[in-house]
Amino acid sequence: LRSAATASVRIFGSYKPQVSLHLQQTRSIVNVASRPSDLVGNTPLIDLQKILKSRGVDVSNGVKLYGKLESLGPCSSVKDRLGRSMIDDAEAKGLLTPGESVLVEPTSGNTGIALAFIARERGYKCILTMPETMSVERRMMLMSLGAEVVLTPKETAVPGALAKAKEIVAGLPEGKGIILQQFENEANVRIHRETTGPEIWKDTDGLIDIFVSGVGTGGTVSGVSQFIKPLKPDMKTVAVEPMEQMLITAAKGGEKIGEQGPHKIQGMGAGLVPAVLDLDIIDEVVPIHSDEAADMANELWMIGLPVGISSGAIVAAATKVCERDEAAGKMVVCVIPSFGERYFTHPMFSEIKNAAESLEKQPLPEPFDNRE
Ligand code: PMP
Repeated sequence: LRSAATASVRIFGSYKPQVSLHLQQTRSIVNVASRPSDLVGNTPLIDLQKILKSRGVDVSNGVKLYGKLESLGPCSSVKDRLGRSMIDDAEAKGLLTPGESVLVEPTSGNTGIALAFIARERGYKCILTMPETMSVERRMMLMSLGAEVVLTPKETAVPGALAKAKEIVAGLPEGKGIILQQFENEANVRIHRETTGPEIWKDTDGLIDIFVSGVGTGGTVSGVSQFIKPLKPDMKTVAVEPMEQMLITAAKGGEKIGEQGPHKIQGMGAGLVPAVLDLDIIDEVVPIHSDEAADMANELWMIGLPVGISSGAIVAAATKVCERDEAAGKMVVCVIPSFGERYFTHPMFSEIKNAAESLEKQPLPEPFDNRE
């Protein structure tokens, strides 16, 4: 008892301010968010010069590559911005009532996670419909955030999940259920025009010359470019899509190369040309094969940057852009959309998974000592 009392006195003592009353009044703690959604945005840039060098790009001409680390959002992806913005927008339009409204969305990806976490914070129910092929890991993430997960047959793919979402809303009392529709929602592009674009502009002091972004819904590429191009009309926008599914290239009048079909870059190449995508603002489309994306994602992990597969695709495309003569002296900024731990079921990690599973207990190693 006595030692507990002594400890509490000591703790109290250590908090006791040792400054004058005047200073005490002007002190305040900083960098505190009042709720999780306040943590969305304001992501930093990371210097990716090391990747250029390891890929043999001649950087003596002054080319610079930076990545915008959307992987550092509160739920680890660029979709955190979209989830907050679509819900803020629906709230502003008076469409949502805490404790009553049900957000229904056909998504298995990062959008589902973003919607689930904001819905949880704000007191809305969230139902996510997705094909049964989605990993248990992914279902667990959504269910841990309080969302209800409804699986649809794999044969009906994404359209099946959308049909199911509509069916669920139709079965709810009038006005209770809402589908926010990320591929059509104007709040998607707007959030990137109002936050991601201005952040890049400010953090590069307006020196950005080339912007490289993947296309899922097209929200990021459209919004960022719509903010920066009026300020710097010669900034170039490069969109990235899976080589196995070159729909944006085709929509821009380009040729598809190689075999078209399924790809392994989650978050990109949704199999449609999204309504919110600003096709005209894109200057070039660079296709990246799923294997190339995984190779680069692996390389990013190897420099200590755990990112997802689409980040690999985008950095691979940005590296190709940096290799060109025209990139001399240019600043290239690319998006790193998500954190890597979310993709452990991707084949990229199968070797590590096997190695981790077959680890055997070893005797303690000798202490590591690198002194002379
Ligand atoms: N990569 C990942 C991992 C994503 O989740 C998304 C969003 N679907 C994107 C890239 C593409 O972003 P956007 O939808 O803004 O085009």
